[in-house]
Amino acid sequence: MESVIAVWGLKKIYRGSEKPAVRDLNLTVERGEMIGVIGPSGAGKSTLLRCINHLVIPTAGRIFIEGEEITGASPGMVRKLRRRLGMVFQHHNLVARLTVMQNVMHGRLGYMNTMDGVLGRYKEEDKRRAVTTLEQTGLGDFLYHRAGELSGGQRQRVGIVRALMQEPSVLLCDEPIASLDPASAQVVMELIRDVCRRHKIACIVNLHQVDAALKYADRIIGMFEGEIVYDGPTAELTGTMIEKIYGKPMSELMISSER
Ligand code: ADP
Repeated sequence: MESVIAVWGLKKIYRGSEKPAVRDLNLTVERGEMIGVIGPSGAGKSTLLRCINHLVIPTAGRIFIEGEEITGASPGMVRKLRRRLGMVFQHHNLVARLTVMQNVMHGRLGYMNTMDGVLGRYKEEDKRRAVTTLEQTGLGDFLYHRAGELSGGQRQRVGIVRALMQEPSVLLCDEPIASLDPASAQVVMELIRDVCRRHKIACIVNLHQVDAALKYADRIIGMFEGEIVYDGPTAELTGTMIEKIYGKPMSELMISSER
């Protein structure tokens, strides 16, 4: 069966830089698989996610989403493929003055024509699905609260529900818990894991926190200086390997909340 994400020989050199941010990177991700990407700051984790979603254009290499190539695709094709790619960022980037419902419904914009989108003419079934998903996520009491009034953890959950409204086959999460307290981080990671299992979404989560990666991911990708230095089951990642990826002892890496 074809992989949900396939990355072949990816390389990215940013303008003005000589050193590749990512190089010789090959990766496939299957349906329902949750991958934690770990590695020191500057290892290329964020560049990898941004290349997959076409926010960054690779210098070389090819990327396929469910067998369709996004690298070199026409703007129309990129737009179509992006619907399948849900993104969750560290700073959730919700519109603070809009309500939770309005923010979540933005997840449908990729499926609508411009006029319907501007006028907020969403389908009833989509609105019902938004309410149900928000209720299932423990946000049922906040539908008409402004996003700006919510806590960081609640906002991140709204961002995940918004991504789910796209009915994605891929969820790309860039440091989703970096600015959360440990209790909220746990809720957010559990939500990401549960929705990916339930909807069979292929998920890549960039994590600064090694302990969270070990706890929630099925598979770990360790990056160092733009290359994958470990790719395998979480259970087989040894302490020695982690120390090699970070160049630091494990004891200095486990304190996830104190960045
Ligand atoms: P990580 O997410 O692992 O911290 P990044 O992908 O953000 O790593 O960065 C990888 C390398 O690319 C770093 O050396 C970083 O400075 C560089 N880099 C990232 N974004 C840009 C950019 N927009 N322009 C130039 N260099 C960048």
